[in-house]
Amino acid sequence: MALIVQKFGGTSVGSVERIKAVAQRVFKAAKAGNSLVVVVSAMGKTTDALVQLAREISAHPSQREMDMLLSTGEQVSIALLSMALQDLGQPAISLTGAQVGIITEAKHSRARILEIPRDRLVGQLQEGKVVVVAGFQGIASTEDLEITTLGRGGSDTSAVAIAAALGADICEIYTDVPGILTTDPRIVPDAQLLSEITSDEMLELASLGAKVLHPRAVEIARNYGVTLVVRSSWTDEPGTKVISPNPMPRNIENLELVRSVNAIELDTDQGKVALLRVPDKPGVAASLFGEIGRQGLDVDLIVQSIHEGNSNDIAFTASNNSLKQAEATVQAIAATLRVGAAANEAEITLEPDIAKIGIRGAGMIGRPGIAAQMFAALADAGININLISTSEIKVSCTIDIKDCDRAVEVLSKTFGIESSPVSLSAEATAGTAISSSPVRGVALDKNQARLAILHIPDRPGTAAKIFGMLAAKNISVDMIIQSERSRLFQDVATRDIAFTLRRSDAQEARKVLTDLASEFEWSEVALDEAIAKISIVGSGMINQPGVAARMFQALAERQINIQMIATSEIKVSCVVREDQGTEALQAIHATFGLAGDKKIEVPT
Ligand code: ADP
Ligand code: ASP
Ligand code: MG
Repeated sequence: MALIVQKFGGTSVGSVERIKAVAQRVFKAAKAGNSLVVVVSAMGKTTDALVQLAREISAHPSQREMDMLLSTGEQVSIALLSMALQDLGQPAISLTGAQVGIITEAKHSRARILEIPRDRLVGQLQEGKVVVVAGFQGIASTEDLEITTLGRGGSDTSAVAIAAALGADICEIYTDVPGILTTDPRIVPDAQLLSEITSDEMLELASLGAKVLHPRAVEIARNYGVTLVVRSSWTDEPGTKVISPNPMPRNIENLELVRSVNAIELDTDQGKVALLRVPDKPGVAASLFGEIGRQGLDVDLIVQSIHEGNSNDIAFTASNNSLKQAEATVQAIAATLRVGAAANEAEITLEPDIAKIGIRGAGMIGRPGIAAQMFAALADAGININLISTSEIKVSCTIDIKDCDRAVEVLSKTFGIESSPVSLSAEATAGTAISSSPVRGVALDKNQARLAILHIPDRPGTAAKIFGMLAAKNISVDMIIQSERSRLFQDVATRDIAFTLRRSDAQEARKVLTDLASEFEWSEVALDEAIAKISIVGSGMINQPGVAARMFQALAERQINIQMIATSEIKVSCVVREDQGTEALQAIHATFGLAGDKKIEVPT
């Protein structure tokens, strides 16, 4: 007999027939002698319909009333599922988040879970009942009983958090696709089912647009070692297992408020090559990194900043001993690029002996202030940041090697890290990869926008200030890229910083930054809302040359221009024009041989 938490998403409980089918499945598992807590979402598209209703009433509804409204969707489905179970002769009880006593932060619309008391749940289970719990909701405190919600898609997080609090044997997420696939089958019908994925890979995919799992659910599973499976609620197929490393023992109190940074990572054997003023046209990154890949050179960070006029800058890091060869390759490519019209100025810079320093921790998900804190700590110590690369669970920067010890010291102090820095190469060989393919999945995010701040005076502390201000408004950013070129603007050395963010935050972010323009003397804040972000993710790409190049090549073959590039150890993301996002996803999925031989059926 096992203690099982099952979660059913909106489509899975979208109609009377579906609720009855779910009840049958739950009943079967209970009959087999298991104890069951079942978490459900609102029926079908109920939450969207409620959001629409609110919009029709008010242009700016208060977040408190939105939570009040949206939490009703789940209350309908828990009652109906309980009734269906009782009709089958299975004792069951439905409970709202407040009735279970799920305590969250007092932040409407995106609260994190702090505590889930076991008593109420365990008491009902001991009476032989299936406990049906409303997903996506909690209360801010037991005194004022303010209803909170966890953010869209948050029922996954409710389920995994309950599984962690109860120490359940397994948490099963039932949805409308057979499990986690190589990409979204609604866009690429020949996407293939993955039998396993690591939690690190899933964290990246989830935050880069694969909505099959809420990233915070993956974070909790990873932190507390919850066995997590994603399966179809239509079939009995086993689905996909999300594999987590053995977690350190953690206190279940403040469940979702774990330490944001767990480790400092350091790589002192890096050099940087930058190619400035290359033509802004499809195929440039592909030919550059294609050639580097053919030489067997493994590049680490790659960043490409926004274009100025009709040229781009591309920079990358590689280990010091491959730097000379990388430079020669870039020289040869630059010569061929000079043939092109705008490329007569293409210029190469080489910087050996730099270090890459990073902070990592799943707790930084959805907490916009962490990167800014890191930049501020380095700026306060007078350490200049060169390249920046961010992923969902990591922020890395390159710095001068002479600043290394001090950087480790200030970051350890800022984030309360006592252990010594982890070497990246040691981690890379730790063997997290679980398949031979370098790319596990591909994701498309069409809800992104790009902001660029032009001509920022080149002084330490500016990045910290910018991202600190945005964090204070709860705006998360990604793909932060500081331009390689320093340009004189009104006799001052300036750089540009570009980054991507959620489209719904874009106007507010633009306003925040425009208001700061005179204080910080930057010239312009440019917003592009018509972008799409396309990413490949896989732990197999660590130490494997040529993976990014294959992605760039697939885009080049379709004449899709890359506007920005950012990488971390296990992902490569590119920004492309919004209307080319779908074609880009299909092309990249095919290029890595991820297509299966059967078409995935998706319920509408
Ligand atoms: P639920 O209502 O069950 O929570 P969601 O709609 O939140 O379901 O998530 C499931 C959907 O996620 C699928 O229908 C699919 O369109 C989408 N999806 C995006 N990327 C992936 C992926 N890599 N694997 C599986 N599904 C994906
Ligand atoms: N019903 C909520 C939503 O649609 C929560 C969820 O389904 O996970 O976002
Ligand atoms: Mg969902």
